[in-house]
Amino acid sequence: MTSVGIIGSGFGALAVALELKRAGHTDLRLWERSDDLGGVWRDNTYPGAGCDVPSPLYSFSFEPNPHWTRRYALQEEIHTYIRSVADKHGITPLVRFGSEVVAATWDEHSSTWTVSFADPSTSSGTREETVDILVSAVGQLSRPRLPAIEGVDSFAGTSFHSAEWDHSFDPAGKTIAVVGSGASAVQFIPHLARDAAEVIVFQRSPNYLMPKPDKPYKAFHKALFHKVPASQRLERGVIWTFMEQFARGLDDESRVGRVNKSVAMWHLRKQVKDPDLRAKLTPDYPIGCKRILFSNEFYPALAQDNVDVVTYAITKVTRKGVVDSAGTEHEVDAIVYATGFDSQDFLQSIDITGTHGQKLATQWADGAHAYLGMYVPNFPNLFVTYGPNTNLGGGSIIYMLEAQARHMRQALDRLVAGDYETIEVTQEAEEAYDRDVVAKLEHSAWAHCDNWYRHRSGRITSNWPGATLPFAKATKVLEPSAFRWA
Ligand SMILES: Cc1cc2nc3c(=O)[nH]c(=O)nc-3n(C[C@H](O)[C@H](O)[C@H](O)COP(=O)(O)OP(=O)(O)OC[C@H]3O[C@@H](n4cnc5c(N)ncnc54)[C@H](O)[C@@H]3O)c2cc1C
Repeated sequence: MTSVGIIGSGFGALAVALELKRAGHTDLRLWERSDDLGGVWRDNTYPGAGCDVPSPLYSFSFEPNPHWTRRYALQEEIHTYIRSVADKHGITPLVRFGSEVVAATWDEHSSTWTVSFADPSTSSGTREETVDILVSAVGQLSRPRLPAIEGVDSFAGTSFHSAEWDHSFDPAGKTIAVVGSGASAVQFIPHLARDAAEVIVFQRSPNYLMPKPDKPYKAFHKALFHKVPASQRLERGVIWTFMEQFARGLDDESRVGRVNKSVAMWHLRKQVKDPDLRAKLTPDYPIGCKRILFSNEFYPALAQDNVDVVTYAITKVTRKGVVDSAGTEHEVDAIVYATGFDSQDFLQSIDITGTHGQKLATQWADGAHAYLGMYVPNFPNLFVTYGPNTNLGGGSIIYMLEAQARHMRQALDRLVAGDYETIEVTQEAEEAYDRDVVAKLEHSAWAHCDNWYRHRSGRITSNWPGATLPFAKATKVLEPSAFRWA
């Protein structure tokens, strides 16, 4: 029987495990470094954490949830959803918690992966397991990143990253510096601003911000979703259609892009009356180049008297606070880093070695790329979920993960049916695919400014170009000639 080891226990790992289990593959194990499943929805517990894609779409297509309390569910509810899906389908018992994968090495003789885990109880500090197929589901946003600012460690007050929220910290009456104003900051700043004496937001660049069409579902909606599941499928379909159009707005010079920009600018004018603050919050780059954000509460929070937006760069963190490039030292009680994640160095926290001793880190030194974002030459039997160029500027990642899982299931089915031991994408197929992706990305909004979708080499490594349907089509039927089967 072909054994499959999946690293992670977020939506990606679940999508693959559920798909393979349904297809009758039973030798499955999931390795999770933490003590609970859920991925980013276990870790990001900051106040106001929630999805920015409506929940009927940001959920598994085969597991609609009539119990969502609102259109854009909050973290706790999404985490509960993940746990309940894993329980319902018998995935939870397959998860080995406290298993941090540190290395994986391809053995050409046995055609298996030897996977190493951190284990302080052994003399070597590691233990090993062997599997036929290795699936990475470590996500793109699972490693919080602190900024490389002088003195970050010298601050004497409370400080933490938004993905590692310190719930023992009480913001009431405190002066708090928030470093960053991106997707997470937009969600938690309104909560901090309610209780804190003062919030100083250090903004590197402003974001385009759209109104969030969020609302609680009434008892009527929930009853309807429950009794007539087609009604929730209809809502999902409407949202998906809308999001596909939204994604089209991320193409260069698209009319949808111009509409998106008008809406964002109208939202700013409506919610921020102070011309100085409005100027600070007006982006100077094409819409979509950085992630478009959604909130009805962020601008009003910034307009509060106890909130200040500083646009000078931070030059130093001191014992007492933060020094900006104008030379002002802002003394604060706490610093919250909303500085995002190590998203570009795909899989580099794991030492992965493929055929002929090839290191994945070396192969991807100038930025990661993979056939369909999933398969890498020189790395047989390695499947990657949410890999290079599968992130979205608009749309549900879960939709993408399901498409990837279906493709991986086909790969595994063919492997088993053909009595093969290995599947490896050919160099030619990967290169041809990559040329196409790179050409499309050159015309995308992301090509026009600095953003977290880019590797330091300049290559856009995170995002899929365009809407999600073309990805679903590209992955619908496995093309056997793209792979070497042995
Ligand atoms: C705050 C936040 C909000 C978001 N909102 C949205 C949204 O609204 N819509 C959307 O489409 N996407 C959103 N995303 C993107 C989100 O990352 C994906 O939607 C999705 O949850 C990714 O799932 P995943 O399983 O691929 O990765 P993750 O959820 O990151 O899970 C990876 C798992 O792998 C584990 N892991 C990592 N390394 C190892 C290792 N070496 N050994 C063992 N285990 C390991 C981690 O502990 C984690 O449990 C958001 C992300 C964040 C951070």
